[in-house]
Amino acid sequence: MITRRRFIKALSALPFVASLPRLAKGQNIPDFSRLKAGYAQRFKKILAAGELPYVDIESSCKSGKLDIDSVAKSMDRLNIGLMALSADIGQKQFDKGVRFDNLSENLLASYPDRFIPVGNGGQPPALTEAPDEFLDAQEEAARKKKIVLFGEYEFRHYPSPRQAKRGEVDRDIHIPIDGPIGHRVFSLSEKMGMPFQIHYEVENELLASLEKMLAQYPKAKVIWCHLAQIRYIERAPGYTPAYIDGLIKRFPNLYFDTAFGDASSVYPPSNQKHARVWADDGSLKGEWRDLIVAHSTRMLSALDLGNDRMHRIGEYDQNHRNFLKRLPGETQHQVAYRSAWSLLFGEEFA
Ligand SMILES: [Zn+2]
Repeated sequence: MITRRRFIKALSALPFVASLPRLAKGQNIPDFSRLKAGYAQRFKKILAAGELPYVDIESSCKSGKLDIDSVAKSMDRLNIGLMALSADIGQKQFDKGVRFDNLSENLLASYPDRFIPVGNGGQPPALTEAPDEFLDAQEEAARKKKIVLFGEYEFRHYPSPRQAKRGEVDRDIHIPIDGPIGHRVFSLSEKMGMPFQIHYEVENELLASLEKMLAQYPKAKVIWCHLAQIRYIERAPGYTPAYIDGLIKRFPNLYFDTAFGDASSVYPPSNQKHARVWADDGSLKGEWRDLIVAHSTRMLSALDLGNDRMHRIGEYDQNHRNFLKRLPGETQHQVAYRSAWSLLFGEEFA
């Protein structure tokens, strides 16, 4: 449990907020303008050192297994600006009745200039077995301004490469995006003006229902995670740079994160190289690069760290930077942190 006193103490540890630590009365709620000042100071420090900070908009973990100090240390070592590190509610927590994991509160209590307060991952069992309770709890956190971003909702999710190797199929998920859960999530985003993230594998037959939802909820802020990650190319001939270009033009609140594998990453069940931005020689394919440059304000940095790979943060950072460095200088800064900044705060980073 993080007390108000501890939170203030953590904030006060930062010289620039020492004079004005502030919390909403009676609640452990961060004053967002204070947090933002801390974030900006951290970014400027990294930039002044000639390094590129970025916002990891999408990583997740199990809160009980997280070594917070170790992650924070890695972020400093790797010049990662900010992380939206969301907690996934595990089976044990779920069985105990947990519907909101307040990891963000704990992260901010210790490191208020490194973490974005984010809701929980929308995945089984919470989203599938108790969707209303889970979404009620996420909505309450949003209303109380404990978070500024909802977690990643898995509407269509194949087993991850690691799960596939282990023969696990518990994350072969299909929740119709235009079903009751989808409507609730999209309308929640619209109502709160708060972005959410979707994991939505690319299949031609799934595209129409997503487009329908984007059209019905034009103010919902949607981050479609894993740009150009296609596990089975034969299922997705319609997903091309031209198609994404069209979506971006039609839907002004649609964003993409750039968490995908490196050029050699293979999805074991299909045996295909699923990160389609890469050419065989390890460069970015021209048409994907052009798309990212043309719509850099809709593209977001992300690492997609998870519980089973938190210790590989250095390797994931290196992969992501290998992608960023292939973009023009200005685009690097836009994708790395400017897009996230304007999406989350409604203003340009200055
Ligand atoms: Zn995902």
